[in-house]
Amino acid sequence: MNSVLSLARPDILELQPYQHAMWDPSLERLHANEMPWRAQGDNTAAGLNRYPEPQPKALVERMGRLYDVPPGRVLVGRGSDEAIDLLARAFCRAGTDSVVICPPTFGFYKVAARIQGAQVVEVPLLREGFALDAPRVIEAGRNAKIVFLCSPNNPTGNLLDESAMLGICRELATTSLVCVDEAYIEFAGRASLAARLAEHPNLVLLRTLSKAYALAGARLGTLLASEEIVGLLKRIIPPYAIPASTVEDVLKLTEAPQRAISAGRIQTVLAERERSRRRLEAAPTVARVFPSDANFLLVECRDARKFLEAGKSAGLLVRDFSGTPGLANCLRITIGTPEQNERLLQAVERP
Ligand code: PMP
Repeated sequence: MNSVLSLARPDILELQPYQHAMWDPSLERLHANEMPWRAQGDNTAAGLNRYPEPQPKALVERMGRLYDVPPGRVLVGRGSDEAIDLLARAFCRAGTDSVVICPPTFGFYKVAARIQGAQVVEVPLLREGFALDAPRVIEAGRNAKIVFLCSPNNPTGNLLDESAMLGICRELATTSLVCVDEAYIEFAGRASLAARLAEHPNLVLLRTLSKAYALAGARLGTLLASEEIVGLLKRIIPPYAIPASTVEDVLKLTEAPQRAISAGRIQTVLAERERSRRRLEAAPTVARVFPSDANFLLVECRDARKFLEAGKSAGLLVRDFSGTPGLANCLRITIGTPEQNERLLQAVERP
C-alpha cells in the first residue's frame, strides 16, 4: 500500500462507499427516484430535477487544466473548506490523532480538526516576517496526521518559503500529509507547488475559485494530490456534492475570456494593494503595514477600534484580528475597487 494511504483511518480504508445511482447519460433515468419533469422556470442545461454527476468529468478536466495537473489528481468539492473537512475526517481518528497548524492562520483548519475530534498542535509562525518555524513543524508533524500550511497565509498575507515547505514534506514523507493551502497564490506572482506533487506523495494542495476567479458564491474548491489520496476522498465525499448549477456556472465562467479578465483584475488588485500600502503607511492611525502576496493587507493600527469606526463611517467593513494572539491591534483589509479603497483611505487619513 502507498505509505501515505496507510496513514488514513483504517475504518475509512475498509469503508464500503455509498453507491451512487449509475451515471450513464446515454440511457433514460428511471433509477434515481427523480421527477421526470423540470420545475417550472428551470432553465439549466442539465435540469435540476436530475442528480448531478458525482465528480463531473468535464469539471474535473477543466480544473486539471486550470491548475496544470492530470485529472486523476483532482478532487472537486464545495469550496476548499470541504476539502479541509474531508482530510480531517479521512485521516484523523477522533480522540487519538492530531494535526499541526501554524498560527496566526486560516481558522477553519482548527475547527475542522476539532469537529472530527482531533487534537490541534500549534507551531506559531516566527515573529520575524511570519516565517515558518520549520524544525518545530517537523518535530510536531512526526506525531501528527496532517500539517496545514497556508501560502500565501491568511491573515498575514505572506508566502511561506518554498524550500522550507518541501523540506517539511520530505522529512514527514512516511508520517504525515502536508496540506498547502494556495487559496491566494494567483496574487503572489509565484508558481503553485502543483509541479512538485509527483515527487511528494504526502503533499496535498488546495486551490479555490473563490478569490482570483471571483466565484466565491459558486462554492468550488479543488484538492490536488496523489491519485491514491484523491481516490480515498472520493469514497467519503457526500454523494452528488457539487450542485448542477455550480457545474454549469463554473464551466461557463472559467473559459479563456473570463480567465483573461481575471488576469487583468489581478493586476488591478496588485496595483491597488501597492497604492493602499503606501497611503496606509503614512496614515496617522497606522503603525505598520505588513508585506502582502495576497489580495489583502494586514495592518497594525495605533488604535484598531478607531480604524474600524472610521471604516464603518465610510460604509466599509474590514476584519478585526486584534483579539488574535500575535496580532494585537491588527486588522485585515481586503483590496476592493479603486473607489472603495480610496474611500477607506480618505476615512482613515483624517486625523
Ligand atoms: N483557505 C483559505 C486560506 C481561505 O482564506 C479561505 C476563505 N477565506 C478558504 C480556504 C476557503 O475557501 P473556499 O471558498 O474555497 O471554501
